[in-house]
Amino acid sequence: MNFHPKARPRHLVIVLGDQLDKDSAGFDGFDAEQDAVWMAEVTGEATHVWSHKARIAIFLAAMRHFRDELRGRGITVHYRELCDSTFGEELTKTVRQLKPQRMIVVEPGEWRVQEDLKQAVPGLEVRVDRHFLSAKEEFAAHAKGRKQLRLEYFYREMRRKHNLLMDGDQPVGGTWNFDKDNRGSFSKDGPGLIPKPVGFKPDATTREVLKLVEKRFAKHPGRLDQFDWPVTRQQAQQALADFIANRLPDFGRVEDAMWTGQPYLYHSRLAAALNLKLLDPRAAIAAAVEAYRKKRAPIEAVEGFVRQLLGWREYIRGVYWQFMPGYANLNTLNATRPLPEFYWTGDTEMNCLREVIGQTLALGFAHHIQRLMVTGTYALLLGVDPVEVHKWYLAVYVDAVEWVELPNVLGMSQYADGGIMASKPYVASGKYIQRMSNYCVGCRFDPAQRIGPQACPFTTLYWDFLLRHEKLLAKNQRMTMQLKNLARLTAADRLAIREQAGQVTANA
Ligand SMILES: Cc1cc2nc3c(=O)[nH]c(=O)nc-3n(C[C@H](O)[C@H](O)[C@H](O)COP(=O)(O)OP(=O)(O)OC[C@H]3O[C@@H](n4cnc5c(N)ncnc54)[C@H](O)[C@@H]3O)c2cc1C
Ligand code: SF4
Repeated sequence: MNFHPKARPRHLVIVLGDQLDKDSAGFDGFDAEQDAVWMAEVTGEATHVWSHKARIAIFLAAMRHFRDELRGRGITVHYRELCDSTFGEELTKTVRQLKPQRMIVVEPGEWRVQEDLKQAVPGLEVRVDRHFLSAKEEFAAHAKGRKQLRLEYFYREMRRKHNLLMDGDQPVGGTWNFDKDNRGSFSKDGPGLIPKPVGFKPDATTREVLKLVEKRFAKHPGRLDQFDWPVTRQQAQQALADFIANRLPDFGRVEDAMWTGQPYLYHSRLAAALNLKLLDPRAAIAAAVEAYRKKRAPIEAVEGFVRQLLGWREYIRGVYWQFMPGYANLNTLNATRPLPEFYWTGDTEMNCLREVIGQTLALGFAHHIQRLMVTGTYALLLGVDPVEVHKWYLAVYVDAVEWVELPNVLGMSQYADGGIMASKPYVASGKYIQRMSNYCVGCRFDPAQRIGPQACPFTTLYWDFLLRHEKLLAKNQRMTMQLKNLARLTAADRLAIREQAGQVTANA
């Protein structure tokens, strides 16, 4: 029996849009007869970056399903449907109205929200976020005294600590990392038949949200006609089971490959469900390890997937909290150009960018290498202001939440943190894209050319990037090969590259 919604609650538990987990610490000691939950949809969260319609929709649909689930369990939920005020304003109103004895929240995932909440609710009890396998303090202890933070060391520590894929003290398969087996590409015949990932037909609640988003956010980027993301815990578990049974065995082998018209390939499509907390990363890791134990998936695939979740995802969160709020303003390469307009439309002659941006606008999804080596690399080579790049990434993906998006963009993709995360800038010429995809087939540019009317803008800008940052990069041992190649250029070559790059940037 829940208590009267207007009664003064003992505890009011604030549930943020990316905290949709009934087993979170927020519900420890929850008593439905005295306690209540508070949730709010505020437009500011959809507009502080120019959010893709699918990103707005997945949040609202998942929140409404969670609200209904809680109410179904007899829990009082004070829920504000889409309102124009800010989160802080709504919360202040509630506190005045309900006068709860205590307000509780699980650690917010975003620095800005954490600060807003502290301001709006003095005395707020903040509980640890158990969703993650590594607490912020554990990461801080790992980072202490290290000159550089590298995934590999953190990942090994996590494998040992959680005894995952271990044979005693040694990694299963004799090596920690099967990265070198995960860089395959497809032959010219393409990927062949890949099992279609399970999708979820919008139910009445989701359909109502889709209608609302189309109406209220009509001018926002992206489309909703293919929206089929998991928005409940059950659907997230179904999506996990489907991935483990049908795509995990081939996950690692071609993890970095790209192909026209194949947005998902062997990827899991689980990031949004994980980030909304509809899915526990432990469940995803355990399911993959079990598939290996039962000989349903090879070690390269399983280790590759475990590394993403136990390694990268936890490490990225650690970096975010270790370096915020200053991290968001880092700009080591002094990049200042605006983001090209075509990032919002896909309207460009460059086939790779047209494909990846087009797919992003249609689905709110691109896989890791599309984000890192196509849209990310182009912005880096062009010298776009990292804050602009960050705002774009935070806006356009269904899985985008700042704690994971920001270090991936600023650190891994744009090298704006000067190497806190990545040991060198992820730069490559068009030849990399040619090797890893079929995008260059039929493109009006030629990835092998850096000068002339057919020159690939990636290739031109790659050489121009090395020229622009030659001094800084010379200090980096991992750039030795690239700088040796640069040293072979004559003064005339250099001048021609600079001129061609000038034309590319003028047209960008
Ligand atoms: C520039 C850039 C921006 C990114 N922005 C986001 C973002 O906003 N939100 C987000 O969740 N991921 C982000 N990533 C990481 C990664 O690209 C996505 O997690 C992945 O593409 C989502 O698709 P998937 O679920 O099919 O992942 P899979 O390829 O199937 O990987 C499995 C899971 O591993 C985790 N993972 C993989 N790589 C990373 C990584 N680098 N950092 C953290 N977790 C990782 C994700 O939870 C993912 O669901 C970004 C990467 C780059 C390079
Ligand atoms: S030629 Fe250059 S611009 Fe065209 S698809 Fe290949 S890498 Fe992209």
